[in-house]
Amino acid sequence: HSSAALSDSAVRFNVNLRSGESGQNMNFVLKKKLRVWCHFPDTGWELGNVQSLSGQLANIFLSNGKISAVHVERLLPANPNILDGTDDLIQLSYLNEPSVLYSLKRRYADDMIYTKAGPVLVAVNPLKKVHICGSDFSGAYQHKTLDGPHVYAVADAAYSEMMRDGINQSVIISGESGAGKTETAKIAMQYLAALGGCSGIEQRLLHTNPILEAFGNAKTLRNDNASRFSRVVQRAKGERSYHIFYQLCAGAPLVLKDKFNLKSAHEYEYLKQSDCISISEVDDAQMFHVLMEAFDTVRICKEDQENAFAIIAALLWLGNVKFEVIDYEKHVQVIPDDGVKNAAKLMGCEVDQLMLALSTRTIQAGVDSIVQRLTLQQAMDTRDALAKSIYDSLFEWLVDQINISLEDGKRRAGRSISILDIYGFESFHNNRFEQFCINYTNERLQQYFNRHLFKLEQEEYTQDGIDWNNIDFIDNTECLNLFEKKPLGILCLLDEESNFAKATDLTLAIKFQKHLSSNPCFKLGMDGAFKILHYAGEVVYDTSGFLEKNRDPLYSDLVQLLQSCSCQLLRTITSHILNQSQRSTRPQWLNGADSQKQSVGTKFKAQMFRLMQRLENTTPHFIRCIKPNRKQLPGMFDNDVVLEQLRCCGVLEVVKISRSGYPTRITHQQFAERYGFLLLDNIDFQDPLSVSISILHQFNILPQMYQVGYTKLFFRSGQACLISVIY
Ligand code: ADP
Ligand code: MG
Repeated sequence: HSSAALSDSAVRFNVNLRSGESGQNMNFVLKKKLRVWCHFPDTGWELGNVQSLSGQLANIFLSNGKISAVHVERLLPANPNILDGTDDLIQLSYLNEPSVLYSLKRRYADDMIYTKAGPVLVAVNPLKKVHICGSDFSGAYQHKTLDGPHVYAVADAAYSEMMRDGINQSVIISGESGAGKTETAKIAMQYLAALGGCSGIEQRLLHTNPILEAFGNAKTLRNDNASRFSRVVQRAKGERSYHIFYQLCAGAPLVLKDKFNLKSAHEYEYLKQSDCISISEVDDAQMFHVLMEAFDTVRICKEDQENAFAIIAALLWLGNVKFEVIDYEKHVQVIPDDGVKNAAKLMGCEVDQLMLALSTRTIQAGVDSIVQRLTLQQAMDTRDALAKSIYDSLFEWLVDQINISLEDGKRRAGRSISILDIYGFESFHNNRFEQFCINYTNERLQQYFNRHLFKLEQEEYTQDGIDWNNIDFIDNTECLNLFEKKPLGILCLLDEESNFAKATDLTLAIKFQKHLSSNPCFKLGMDGAFKILHYAGEVVYDTSGFLEKNRDPLYSDLVQLLQSCSCQLLRTITSHILNQSQRSTRPQWLNGADSQKQSVGTKFKAQMFRLMQRLENTTPHFIRCIKPNRKQLPGMFDNDVVLEQLRCCGVLEVVKISRSGYPTRITHQQFAERYGFLLLDNIDFQDPLSVSISILHQFNILPQMYQVGYTKLFFRSGQACLISVIY
């Protein structure tokens, strides 16, 4: 269309909607009959055909039968019908937001939830069963009788590339909470397990899901089965704690119920506080049986299973421990009721000891130690910290057991495919330390995505000196600096403030303002809140609880208590806490002693760096999960909700770059070695670049199909087959 002659019935113009709406810059010729998108402030984009033009107005015949005069700036070209529902967005003649949305929506209406966006697979959550998975389909992908966009195709590509190149692969699944990441990860795992045949290990791998979900997932407002962390002691109304707590209460066999003195979920403070005990259409008792079977398949022995359940029951009882104030300084003691008695019994310690550890703290003052009684708030925090840290240790232990079982006694040294399913970006009404950590992770992951799909690609073009207009993408380096910079990034400042005994949420907010205001991604909010401009949008964080959650202190009294318990499993899983606390004794803010204990934020960052390092050594395959609406309803495709997600993960830009980029490349040396013998002319074979150019000329390869770089030839997509034609 760029070469179309201008006539009086055609107006060439350059649409440039407000900056930030990337992908909308395009030249096109507006003429009669052209299919266009018209933007109406109330209803959004509508499809129509140009009927006539007069000046800056176009009369549009809309698909609903009406005719409307629309300003040309509100028009974008639509693609010809033949491209409706194309399975790779790269095929679209006009790449703009309404066209991309329309394609996805058309496909979604026909239960085609997968669409390619160049190298990325877009998966729109169907929120209902769609018949596109199962052994028929996976077999068809394996035998290449099906090749449309699918998670199976991604898993298959990862497997084939691993076998072909001997390089580790990764499948990186991202998207908001509830977008379908975990389900997608399971589908990928099923495919890879099927490729491996039906030997024990694959089956065991698949059975790890119910275990990881029971202990690692919970119902949130966005997703009934969200992958979560740290919500044992409190959460928002309408959400649940980890599934395992409800499953145990509902499904434990009578012997265990007796042994643990187990009551129904309503009777436990940790469960009843959020007014949500059950999930519609989920049978917790039945899920408990699925879990026990999974435990058997993964070969966790019966004794360990029972001990793990005993620990879960102990945590429930711990949540019921109550305190009473005993003096004018508001110090407390534990009320000796069922709560503390059952907790002590299940943990295997004396009731008196547990009561003491929950209501006092030993403070080292030089060579003397002083026992101090706790106030109500301190005592409740201590109880909750104990519960969280036991749960955390239990989860880590379970993951270790699963890995040991999968290794079958021998370390596997072969190549690997990693599937990354991670909590997605979150922005709630009230965002806390948890959202802060989650969104930080997503920011890192986005950078990895950018690096691989934009930066590295474009750098290679520039380095090799080919003509290339850089395609802009939202670079989030500034935002990552805000988190990580030393010594004046949020994580460092938070650690510094966590070390002051007198620090409060307000002093933290003031510190942030003092040192971070110059970063364009940071703004101070109201009442000790602060805003971060993430790649996916602005999030307001509430500083309350940041310091306490970052310190996450577990006092030595409790650590010692845990190590004296007769429950062997409890001792095993918590032994690492002892090691940590021996290195550091206690947090500096408590008694001024030298402290090395790592804060939660710092530990989190270190874990993430390890993850990123691991990913850097793989060939990545990206899947972007999209949720079609905010109500978790099937069949409802909300344009604005989808568009927001497409924008924040840069789908349009990825398509653009892969459409105008040069995905196939080969060094002159290799090209000359491979095809040089075909040359009819006499040429100096010492100079591979000249050989390359002569071959391209001899075979009349169209100049727009390739570019000659300093060291390599770059071909447009689809030109890989051209090379084989030459051959
Ligand atoms: P995320 O991990 O991104 O938070 P999930 O994978 O847990 O989201 O998906 C949320 C819910 O959406 C699931 O519980 C399921 O009901 C539904 N869902 C997701 N993917 C699919 C799919 N491929 N087919 C059917 N339902 C799905
Ligand atoms: Mg999940």
